[in-house]
Amino acid sequence: MTESQARTTPTKPEAAEVLLVRVVATTRLSPGFVRVTVIGHDELLGRTFAPMGYDQWVRLFLPRVRCEVPVVPYGENEGWYLRWQELDQEERATIRNYTVRAARRVADDWEIDIDFVVHASASGQVEGVAAGWAIAAQPGDVIGLLDQGTLFDPAGVDPEGTVVMIGDETGIPAAEGIAAALPEGQRALFLLEVSHAEDRRELVTRADLDVRWGIRTGVPSGTVLTELITGVELTERDYVYVVGEAGAVLRLRALAQEAGAGKERVDFCAYWRPERRAG
Ligand SMILES: Cc1cc2nc3c(=O)[nH]c(=O)nc-3n(C[C@H](O)[C@H](O)[C@H](O)COP(=O)(O)OP(=O)(O)OC[C@H]3O[C@@H](n4cnc5c(N)ncnc54)[C@H](O)[C@@H]3O)c2cc1C
Repeated sequence: MTESQARTTPTKPEAAEVLLVRVVATTRLSPGFVRVTVIGHDELLGRTFAPMGYDQWVRLFLPRVRCEVPVVPYGENEGWYLRWQELDQEERATIRNYTVRAARRVADDWEIDIDFVVHASASGQVEGVAAGWAIAAQPGDVIGLLDQGTLFDPAGVDPEGTVVMIGDETGIPAAEGIAAALPEGQRALFLLEVSHAEDRRELVTRADLDVRWGIRTGVPSGTVLTELITGVELTERDYVYVVGEAGAVLRLRALAQEAGAGKERVDFCAYWRPERRAG
């Protein structure tokens, strides 16, 4: 991720390494989401992965040909991108970024849930390497994974202020993780947009959380979030975290500042871009 895509204080994991994980289950959660559960494949995931909560995210290395083991840049986090670039362009894995929705101890290893948005073209066809992979994933399929830590900045949270999270459906797994990690009684306001009413979820939290959902029908991503933030009054003590489509993220960040949030108190990450991407 480049600076233009993210303005946050990331917390990096200590011992991250690229390693292979194996699908153990897939679950269609709702019209817009499929959950894929993975565990260490040839090595224990726990050797290089430790759950951090909040919006912990990983890079996934997806195979060029489904069911084949992906060609990944094995090794430590440092230099992974250069090692990936040096791999054969026709064979190397496709990289996409996803949130760790949950991590559970299973014997000596960790099992991780990743919730993929099943995004589709105007004709209704599921599009995208990752969404297409997830919808067809089967137990036994192997992908690569590299832990990247968190982007949400707990140190930016003022106990006297409000945590404001704004995101489209790609941010729902992060919203769940952040809600679960907030301290007891912390005031929080989450503005969340989905394209199906059934994609809404209960956010389990100890915080004093007000969740406002918007359903998007036939309008560009972020449109409903713009409506949801209209009329909200923020203060310099609030910590705002915005994720979603790149253009919407920048507009919503500006609106959060207009609503009263301090410039340095708005963190954001462009989770996806509208243009087509090569593998
Ligand atoms: C830190 C981080 C965490 C993320 N966590 C999650 C997560 O937990 N779950 C999740 O689903 N996504 C998450 N994302 C977003 C995800 O990485 C992107 O949506 C990614 O582009 C999906 O890859 P793809 O191969 O399916 O589609 P791509 O091949 O990247 O794109 C194909 C086409 O689909 C469009 N497209 C891509 N994503 C969407 C979308 N969500 N809605 C509509 N159109 C889209 C693109 O503009 C393009 O036209 C996260 C991103 C980041 C940076």
